[in-house]
Amino acid sequence: MKKIGFIGLGNMGGPMAVNLVKAGYVVTAFDLVESALEQFVEQGGQRAPSAADAVSDADAVVSMLPASKHVEALYLGDEGLLSAIQPGTLVIDSSTIAPESAKKVAAAAESAGVPMIDAPVSGGVGGAIAGTLTFIVGGEEAALTSAKPLLEVMGKNIFHAGAAGAGQVAKICNNMLLSVLMTGTAEALQLGVNNGLDPAVLSEVMRKSSGGNWALEVYNPYPGVMENVPSSNAYQGGFLVDLMVKDLGLAMESALATQSSTPMGSLTRSLYLAHSKKGHGGIDFSSIQTYFQSSDKS
Ligand code: NAD
Repeated sequence: MKKIGFIGLGNMGGPMAVNLVKAGYVVTAFDLVESALEQFVEQGGQRAPSAADAVSDADAVVSMLPASKHVEALYLGDEGLLSAIQPGTLVIDSSTIAPESAKKVAAAAESAGVPMIDAPVSGGVGGAIAGTLTFIVGGEEAALTSAKPLLEVMGKNIFHAGAAGAGQVAKICNNMLLSVLMTGTAEALQLGVNNGLDPAVLSEVMRKSSGGNWALEVYNPYPGVMENVPSSNAYQGGFLVDLMVKDLGLAMESALATQSSTPMGSLTRSLYLAHSKKGHGGIDFSSIQTYFQSSDKS
């Protein structure tokens, strides 16, 4: 497997595709944004005039698009990529989308003789650049086995969550929990600060106590407590509030579909949505800290 067709060179897809180039694959990419294609060519990749051209003689296809509607539009329908991809070609969709969409596209791929896995990622832009992403895979074991050499170039951990769509379900559950942990951490830090504590001291106390969690370990939301995290850089970069809103929307859809009770996820979705509507959709999700700062006593 040598030739890769790559669709979607955004914040995540761009560095993932570059890592494949660095590992010696011939990667032909397509994106709707001209500057993304130019940047990719500067880094050793090849560009195609359309998505169909990018995949027509590929051994494997990787896509990294924003949401369900983009993935369905790309693959399905008369003009869809499934009619341009050679039967037998492996397809890996790493976008975070609705499990139902992932299942629908995987079923259409199967009918076209194309093995497909959903392989959403965790690890953010930093992980995409460093090639240390976590892939959470749904689909057949055999397709995952053939995808592994590519996934190992772009990531460090690979989990098989189950059948088609299962990768998306696991990803959505993880991000719902992450939103709860981040929001709870921000709320607790603000309570401490409002009551006279140093946020760095409180962070260390909680990190080593029963409230310890991922946000306190590596992604502290309070500005100035931790170096090299978005909170210490005006919440630039990282994982955008609007992407968290999208993922929490997917969690709510899945909860409704299965009559699951998700009060915490529902609350954090409302908080993140309100935060986005205040104009913060394009900054890192740890900026939910500022939602609580606005209730500062001082
Ligand atoms: P992005 O918006 O930066 O990139 C998406 C790219 O897809 C854009 O360059 C866009 O032009 C391109 N695109 C859209 N439709 C297309 C089409 N039909 N053909 C070709 N290109 C098309 O988004 P991103 O941050 O790279 O995220 C991609 C996916 O990964 C999302 O589903 C997101 O939820 C998920 N994700 C993102 C992060 C993160 O930290 N950014 C972390 C984990 C997962």
